[in-house]
Amino acid sequence: MNKKIIITIDGFSSCGKSTLARQLASKLSYVFIDSGAMYRAITLYFLRNHVDWKNKKEVRSALENINLEFVLNPQTGKSDMHLNDENVEALIRDMLVSENVSDVSTDAEVRNFAVTQQRKIGEKKGIVMDGRDIGSTVFPDAELKIFMTADIAIRVERRFKELFEKNPSITIEEVTNNLAMRDYIDSSREVSPLRKAEDAFVLDNTNLTMEEQLKIALKWAKEKLP
Ligand code: C5P
Repeated sequence: MNKKIIITIDGFSSCGKSTLARQLASKLSYVFIDSGAMYRAITLYFLRNHVDWKNKKEVRSALENINLEFVLNPQTGKSDMHLNDENVEALIRDMLVSENVSDVSTDAEVRNFAVTQQRKIGEKKGIVMDGRDIGSTVFPDAELKIFMTADIAIRVERRFKELFEKNPSITIEEVTNNLAMRDYIDSSREVSPLRKAEDAFVLDNTNLTMEEQLKIALKWAKEKLP
């Protein structure tokens, strides 16, 4: 029997999903997969190559030329997103990518492309994957599903701090608008919208420290481990 499980973490933008997923994976010696990085890398490719993502034919042929891989960065100990053998981890966090990624992610072919790879990565279990549709669509049979939420003000503050370090010209308004827009598009799209899976545990981390939220998630994980 496979002793490993699949843990999914979904939720709104900037709830700290990746932070928790990474910590949980490290504690359990599991693999952490940031599914959003895949959608961001596809968006970067589309922007760079002037792919019109409203044109099905263009999207289909562009996807044939995209190779995505998570590659361990020995300097940081984290996995970086590689697009066609180029490390694009920093570039995919750019505001231009953030402004377009949710629109690109509404496309059924784009989703199918990403979901197929996500399922392949999860074949052997032992993963913590974060995103928007991981518990509801990618791994509907995952042993542990977590749905994260936090007050919008807290989410904006956290994202602003993170982005400001790299780009001091960023404003609170830009961050607020981007989060609100992405949450709206992600929740209202036709194909696998952001939803809490029925069997997901809700984790509201508005008033929790990172240590506290990890403790709660670890307790849930241990209850689900065979
Ligand atoms: O997680 P992150 O904020 O980096 O994701 C960027 C965007 O990618 C999200 O706003 C959403 O539009 C899209 N996404 C998605 N499904 C996922 C993960 C991310 O549609 N599983």
